[in-house]
Amino acid sequence: MGTVLVTGGAGYIGSHACKALRAAGHLPVTFDNLETGWQDAVKFGPFEQGDLLDRGRLDEVFAAHKPFAVMHFAALSQVGESIAEPGRYWRNNVSGSLNLIEAAIEGGCEQFVFSSTCATYGDQDNVVLNEDTPQHPINAYGASKRAIEEMLGDFGRARGLRSVIFRYFNVAGADPEGEVGEFHLPETHLVPLLLDAIDGKREALTIYGTDYDTPDGTCIRDYVHVSDLVDAHLLGLDWLQAGKESRVFNLGTGSGFSVREVIDHSRSVTNRPVPVVEGARREGDCTKLVSGSDRAVSELGWQPKRSNLDQMIADAWRWHQTGHYER
Ligand code: UDP
Repeated sequence: MGTVLVTGGAGYIGSHACKALRAAGHLPVTFDNLETGWQDAVKFGPFEQGDLLDRGRLDEVFAAHKPFAVMHFAALSQVGESIAEPGRYWRNNVSGSLNLIEAAIEGGCEQFVFSSTCATYGDQDNVVLNEDTPQHPINAYGASKRAIEEMLGDFGRARGLRSVIFRYFNVAGADPEGEVGEFHLPETHLVPLLLDAIDGKREALTIYGTDYDTPDGTCIRDYVHVSDLVDAHLLGLDWLQAGKESRVFNLGTGSGFSVREVIDHSRSVTNRPVPVVEGARREGDCTKLVSGSDRAVSELGWQPKRSNLDQMIADAWRWHQTGHYER
């Protein structure tokens, strides 16, 4: 038990991680610049506003709280935006992470849990995406995350930093108790956009591409519940606290759903019509991203509990109707 610095703790996944850390007896200290996060989502420990590009601010926070570990969620994470504005991705994600890693090591903190992504694999038809699959990202978002993975490896060899790297597939759902949930402005993710279309907050959901080489022509993704995802982070922390070596884990279920299938499930879970229009492909999207490994299950003992699609949509729907944050 002890203090964990959670970068991006005011964001979607980070806020759920803070809740899980607190429930496990740790003290989560949120470090967030509130560019995309919400102060209202910081409910489970102290808040330190700051930017990863401000090394002096990071040093102050490490000195003040003396965390034994870092969970690093803070990042820009939109594929399309990363193609249009690659500089922001390299600067915020890569330079920001370099500052954080150096501040952590100099602050005496040598355990690091990092949010990476299946976007580091890129578009690899008919290849099982396991942790040893060579990474060929096709957008600046994936490339920036791969660079940070490499950076963690270099600092591990040079300075003894130990890391658990999680490559997320598609995260969805919300805290089953409704304390925190997903709320982005602007929203870009499939499930919350679908729910917006269902309850009239937007005219329709646009399907980004219907001519992909998949059974129904739409992209396939592997969806994992945010509560299960953060459970894995706690297990990652246990792994590091037990003195184990740095390790990479995919976090997905191994089941893929097309955009059309997610639409169908949303219709049946909410029992409402879903206004949909078919549109062009979104630049940078991979055809299919499904985890081909259960390493997190076999090595960490991870047991996803809520990661079936209907449960994820039901939890997201409940949050969608009751929860939101304000600036
Ligand atoms: N998608 C879509 N319409 C939208 C948003 C997303 O068809 O308005 C598709 C997108 O092309 C991808 C899937 O839904 O195949 C998941 O996209 P999301 O942005 O949620 O996550 P990503 O896979 O980019 O991390």
